[in-house]
Amino acid sequence: MAEAMTLQERKAALDAIAAEILVCTKCPLYTGRTRAVPGAGPIDAEILFIGEGPGFHEDKQGLPFVGQAGKFLEELLAGIGMNRDQVFITNVVKCRPPQNRDPLPLEVDTCTANYLYRQIDLINPKIIVTLGRYSMGLFFPKAKITAIHGKPKYEDGRYYLPLFHPAAVLRNMAVLKPQAVADFKKIPELLKEIRKKQTEDKPGSSTPPPPPSEPPKQLSLF
Ligand code: SF4
Repeated sequence: MAEAMTLQERKAALDAIAAEILVCTKCPLYTGRTRAVPGAGPIDAEILFIGEGPGFHEDKQGLPFVGQAGKFLEELLAGIGMNRDQVFITNVVKCRPPQNRDPLPLEVDTCTANYLYRQIDLINPKIIVTLGRYSMGLFFPKAKITAIHGKPKYEDGRYYLPLFHPAAVLRNMAVLKPQAVADFKKIPELLKEIRKKQTEDKPGSSTPPPPPSEPPKQLSLF
């Protein structure tokens, strides 16, 4: 879908989704929200981070990952030479569940079907990074985060990388921070790999055949 649209058209379509989210009443979570949080970042972001849902600060400000977990995410990004303006950050559900409870299956299904998958289509990222078990569950069904964190899979022309949620790392820094830092370091490697893959896959990008070698010279008998 994104391939057939200009960057401007994609941006306009993404903004239209955000506008829908701000007034959405499709699942019960709208009743408790202050502000819905559609997500933030450039339309042509190569990396899409997907968390679980807005927390207290996100709900107040209407922006994703702005509390302590957001600061830590920025620290992890800085560790690989990136900042949040270069990536798109959103959540599985766009409205804060009451008292930060886990989102219910109906809420996850409704919100992802109406918004997240459409956002993914438009942004068309090279890497989807899932933060925590809810977003992981969308792409790695039945997997356990402790077993697969930092292990990417390549599917449908992009990488999916499951990582710990920054909030979970903050609750257990001694054990999880070194793992989170090591997992994050895989992002630049994957980006390099997929850029190369996509360049090679582009029609007409195959290595041109070598020029014909000079015809063998006839040995002169004189
Ligand atoms: S969580 Fe998603 S589906 Fe539910 S009300 Fe908010 S935007 Fe709509």
